Amino acid sequence: MTDSTHPWAPAPAFSADPALASLPWQQRYANLGPDFVAPVAPAPLPEPYWVGHSAALAQSLGLPPGWAATDSALQAMTGNLVLKGSAMHAGVYSGHQFGVWAGQLGDGRACLLGELAGQEIQLKGAGPTPFSRRGDGRAVLRSAIREFLCSEAMHGLGIPTTRALCVTGSDATIWRETAETAAVVARVAPSFIRFGHFEHFSQRQQIPQLQSLADFVIDHYYPQCRDEAGANPYLALLAEVSRKTAQLLAQWQAVGFCHGVMNSDNMSILGLTLDYGPFQFLDAFAPGHICNHSDSQGRYAFSEQPNMAYWNLYCLTDALMPLIGDEDAATEAVDSYRSHFQAASQLCLAKKMGLSLADPRQKALTDMLLPMLAADQVDYTIFWRRLSHWAARMDDEDFSVMDLFINRQQMQTWQYAFESMHKGMGTTDVSARMLRANPKFVLRNYMAQEVITAAQAKDFSVLAQLQTVLENPFDEHPAHERWAGFAPDWAAAISVSCSS
Ligand code: AMP
Ligand code: MG
Repeated sequence: MTDSTHPWAPAPAFSADPALASLPWQQRYANLGPDFVAPVAPAPLPEPYWVGHSAALAQSLGLPPGWAATDSALQAMTGNLVLKGSAMHAGVYSGHQFGVWAGQLGDGRACLLGELAGQEIQLKGAGPTPFSRRGDGRAVLRSAIREFLCSEAMHGLGIPTTRALCVTGSDATIWRETAETAAVVARVAPSFIRFGHFEHFSQRQQIPQLQSLADFVIDHYYPQCRDEAGANPYLALLAEVSRKTAQLLAQWQAVGFCHGVMNSDNMSILGLTLDYGPFQFLDAFAPGHICNHSDSQGRYAFSEQPNMAYWNLYCLTDALMPLIGDEDAATEAVDSYRSHFQAASQLCLAKKMGLSLADPRQKALTDMLLPMLAADQVDYTIFWRRLSHWAARMDDEDFSVMDLFINRQQMQTWQYAFESMHKGMGTTDVSARMLRANPKFVLRNYMAQEVITAAQAKDFSVLAQLQTVLENPFDEHPAHERWAGFAPDWAAAISVSCSS
């Protein structure tokens, strides 16, 4: 059904390519029923065009080869055509935003098509849903490109994340701070369920629905939570989500990723990085860095992220209490986050330093290193990559790492300590391990901005080029050296906020 009152709503009259009309869609989440999802009426965008897509992800979903060359794929991924077996549904959730209960929030602009090969496909920006509140249900080209590239970059880095299948654009005007153009990002994950889905039903005392949701999550994604006879599966779920979240946060901190809006509705029940908005990879190492222009208090500053995840896990704990009952047991389960986070962080840092297991000496080295990086505002990614190369010879005459510091003497002392920790290990092996743990390429804000500027002028080749690099960020890519350098001075003026 088309919303004829919508400004961009000519009746869609597309017929699907036969290969796309016979895909084996499943609707497991939508089948939970009307307490969980509401149907969305298509609100077509005029004259869509491809901005980018991931061929590898399309293949893993079982989409036919060459699918992206078809007009029906373009229309379907813009939300203009509903393929046979798919549907358009918005899921309902609530959440805490910036520490305050915000009630029902979404999903205001993401629309679930269904599942292919066990992966849900959502269109973000395909138009208003029954939960859009005062929003337009749209996304702008700028934010869709940032989400697409960062999803694939995180995947390339080996960090759990929702994926992105494609972005389509349209010249329809979207108003944010200024006039922009529309885009739709098709994102992919086993599930997009958030902590906020649980908070939604719990706050409303809808306990049967809360239990159905928890059972759905356990049955499909955490079946091991039912393994222990007589144990409370919801308690086991809380413990598992705490562990997964700890692992995710350890990986964010180790790579220097700032999410920017860690509200409880942006926390995935599967421990995936979810909802890419004002995110940023650190340039200079700055623990207090705030990447979101709208976060005036620095609630989600880089160094606060692990605590904020823990805070959100407490929201989830509260929401699950009607199913868990035992408060002490719930506290113990959620508090396991802290030890899991410590262990996972130490392991990430061990790997960054070329070790296979955490080592007490490495903790001392890290404690010494991080204040040095902060004091001299050293580029975080470039430091680790140069150190990884330096480690192959640990040569006193190689100043590539030391050159990054103002206090060179202190760095030299640190490098001696680093060298002595690795005594007896083959330096070539240490270096090779480090090069697999410390990426050469991360999606810095200025890189996304260059892609956006080109795309706004209808040049999508820069996106495709950067995508190739970010899909394999540990490789050298000698032809793309320019993406591995320091951020240019103009990058400091880029301002990213919640507006997207
Ligand atoms: P965010 O802060 O981006 O996580 O968004 C919070 C909620 O607001 C989500 O449920 C979104 O679906 C919703 N939202 C954000 N932007 C829009 C928009 N332009 N139209 C409708 N809903 C939106
Ligand atoms: Mg969100």
